Amino acid sequence: MSPRTVKKILHSGPAPKSADPDFPSRLLYFQERQSELVETIRQIVEIESPSDNKQAVDRLGVLLAGRFEKLGGHAKFHRTPRFGDHLQVDFAGKRGGKPVLLLGHLDTVYPLGTLNSMPFRVGEGRLWGPGTFDMKSGIAFMLHAVEALHAWHGDQLPRPLTVLLVSDEEVGSDTSRRITENLARKAAAVLVLEPAQGLKGAVKTARKGVGEYVLTVIGKSAHSGLDFEKGESAIVELARQIIAISGLVDLKRGLTLNVGTIQGGTRTNVVPGEASAVFDVRIARMKDATGIDRKLRSLKPFNRKCKLEITGGINRPPMERTPGIVALYKKAGDIAKQLGWKLEEAAVGGGSDGNFTAGLGIPTLDGLGGVGEGAHASHESVLISELPRRAALLAALIESV
Ligand SMILES: [Zn+2]
Repeated sequence: MSPRTVKKILHSGPAPKSADPDFPSRLLYFQERQSELVETIRQIVEIESPSDNKQAVDRLGVLLAGRFEKLGGHAKFHRTPRFGDHLQVDFAGKRGGKPVLLLGHLDTVYPLGTLNSMPFRVGEGRLWGPGTFDMKSGIAFMLHAVEALHAWHGDQLPRPLTVLLVSDEEVGSDTSRRITENLARKAAAVLVLEPAQGLKGAVKTARKGVGEYVLTVIGKSAHSGLDFEKGESAIVELARQIIAISGLVDLKRGLTLNVGTIQGGTRTNVVPGEASAVFDVRIARMKDATGIDRKLRSLKPFNRKCKLEITGGINRPPMERTPGIVALYKKAGDIAKQLGWKLEEAAVGGGSDGNFTAGLGIPTLDGLGGVGEGAHASHESVLISELPRRAALLAALIESV
């Protein structure tokens, strides 16, 4: 950061100088800057960034790198040919030690042009538009929390901080997973700015692990009129396998299997020779991963003349509510209390990149982003009134972790 920028920031805040955070003044700081938060979110939402459009995602990455560098960060891109480049920004800290990792993603599920039918707008106490909730408001909190920490602590942050914004979270994080895990291993804690849970804004202290499998049945095709008895229907076999797979669901353990799509056959007058199903597996505990994987791989055909092929596996480990995660949640809860509200926690079925970091045993708190609803849907929105205290919570957490 240039000394001039620092000076500007320093002059812009109330800048309480005490060593103990003065929480009400921290909240006031963000309440006074609510319109700046809104403006940042608007700017980020209006740069569309669908996972499958590298150019679009890179445009957003470059803009954010510039903003983080203005705040004194050192930005670097992890280049990827197929997806947008992943953005890493490092900030030095007054005290040494391990950095806190702020984790999020640049990409959204919305194709380019969505803004035409779903423009960014302010109304009914909310910000509406693609990615407002998942998770562009979370990115805005990162920017404004860093800015606030400069205002409160001078030109160096109180502690080292790393920001990682990946470009492929909505499509499985294949190209970013290693980077996320490497940075998490070096971090004291990981704060994930994914959307909060519910309109009360709970943080997420447990997430299910996620896997995807494909079951392919090879039967034998035949003319359904001339040679019916020579055929072995892959569809009939697949239907029976789907019932068997659904029988593995164990809700008490938090183990679910959902056959999401099926495919098979060619025409009505042909006994189908091939059929397949793609299904999603969710586990609450890592120790269930091998068990369910073994069960799926040992599925036997009901019709011995059919062959089964199964591919896939668990690709996101569950984020389990470890003592490290509980301690981090308690810290956040204490800060929230001093900011004047009760921060709740939630266990959810959906996965995020926080699953990877928690899977390594690094204390991870997820759902620190915007409070709203409608992720991936046309009513995606965040509550404006919640913006200041979410930003304040993030800034105070960075100070105190
Ligand atoms: Zn997300």
